[in-house]
Amino acid sequence: MKTPNSRPVVLCMSGHDPSGGAGLQADIEALLAQGCHAAPTVTALTVQDTVNVSDFRVLDSDWVLAQARAVIADMPVAAVKLGMLGSVGMVENVLEVMSQLPGVPLVCDPVLRAGGGGSLGKDDVGFAMRERLFAVSTIATPNLPEARILAELPQGSSDECAEKLLPFIEHLLITGGHGDEAEVHNRLYCRDGSRHTFTCARLPGSYHGSGCTLASTLAGRLALGEELVSAVKSALDYTWRTLRDAEQPGHGQYVPRRL
Ligand code: PLP
Repeated sequence: MKTPNSRPVVLCMSGHDPSGGAGLQADIEALLAQGCHAAPTVTALTVQDTVNVSDFRVLDSDWVLAQARAVIADMPVAAVKLGMLGSVGMVENVLEVMSQLPGVPLVCDPVLRAGGGGSLGKDDVGFAMRERLFAVSTIATPNLPEARILAELPQGSSDECAEKLLPFIEHLLITGGHGDEAEVHNRLYCRDGSRHTFTCARLPGSYHGSGCTLASTLAGRLALGEELVSAVKSALDYTWRTLRDAEQPGHGQYVPRRL
């Protein structure tokens, strides 16, 4: 008889990236590396390489909900990770899925742009996430450019964006990788007023899939039962190592080495 599989299941609702650097493949690899089982529900297909995205197509609601329902009926979901949603309608699908998973931690990576800057959804998708999804999320993990869009503060500092966004969400991790200081400051803001800054050395180059790697790892650490601040630190440390060891498989950005 087979021994029961005890790895926690993380339901990922994200897009597919055919380059394999970001999206669901990043989620699967990062979760495997944490000792979790990834259950990937496809929200969107994209056409992209490691340079940029040229097109994307969002799946019909019926298809997205059917995928997620099949997983939920079959497996005990220990955490949910959101990546590219692609449309405002997909935000409603996620709410429907979360209504079937009360109390399950939800990590929301508000993906609006590919690493090369191309759009993976209108800013309205971000605003719908803020208005509708943040209330049911444990934490959101925007980088500073994403936080500025969500907060509607185009020049805002991390602190200013957090002040605007914290009324919507309990925990917010604003990453600093897109700046140019020698050190990267990643800031965790909690609605109870506590704050934590995690500083790491800036690595040279630009990366494809770093945000997906971070958010999936964090969902995995929460699924394993790690407490939130510790899980954030574990996820940042692991992601940094995947960037340090990154490879350049194509002509564009580096891809994190997750396994
Ligand atoms: N999700 C999908 C499907 C993507 O294609 C991308 C980027 O291209 C992302 C998420 C975000 O990638 P990153 O982790 O580099 O922000």
